[in-house]
Amino acid sequence: MEIDFEKLRREMVESQIIRRGITDKKVIAAFLKVPREEFVPENLKESAYDDTPLPIGEGQTISQPYIVALMTESLKLKENERVLEVGTGSGYQSAILAEIGCEVYSIEKIASLAKKAEKTLKKLGYNVKIKIGDGTLGWEEFSPYDKIIVTAASPKIPKTLLSQLSKNEGKLIIPIGDRFSQDLILFIKRNEKIEKINLGGCQFVPLIGKEGWEE
Ligand code: SAM
Repeated sequence: MEIDFEKLRREMVESQIIRRGITDKKVIAAFLKVPREEFVPENLKESAYDDTPLPIGEGQTISQPYIVALMTESLKLKENERVLEVGTGSGYQSAILAEIGCEVYSIEKIASLAKKAEKTLKKLGYNVKIKIGDGTLGWEEFSPYDKIIVTAASPKIPKTLLSQLSKNEGKLIIPIGDRFSQDLILFIKRNEKIEKINLGGCQFVPLIGKEGWEE
């Protein structure tokens, strides 16, 4: 029997996103549009809209839909803003950002995942610039970024990323903690002042790199 992905998507948005308090209309519209089933392995398509992260190969995951929504909403995105993502993974978060109308740059450490994500995004018509490398060092060439989103867990805030963030209300969201559990921390940069807001607990795969965890 064919799976009605559109119906599953609508139900996911209603029960996992809206009911849990996400209100940003742009975020909700993007979640209703982006076909999450395209970003998961063939054998997991029927679980694409489940309330959970899913494996995408190489020991990595596509994050739980609600966490993607919460992190995206926290950035208070506007169209045409320049956004850097660290941890491309499947490319789903990049697609959400592109659907909102942002100019998206994304860095992935694992080449096979980066290539697969690039292919999926291109097939769906999303224009996202992807680089293979250590995202803890950011992507200097296109900095400063209005917003930065890190989708892997770090022991501390990578200083280089903070330096590549706009001084004009730049926002950076990142899970910070130990290898097993973290808090989602939102940093807001106003000139040289940094405000820090804790959005609560989460669990991410580790950010491995020069300014993250060691291999
Ligand atoms: N945003 C992704 C999505 O929508 O599918 C989910 C990302 S997954 C939870 C975390 C990703 O971060 C993994 O693909 C992992 O390889 C990547 N990663 C870990 N350390 C990294 C680093 N230093 N630079 C870039 N990517 C990194």
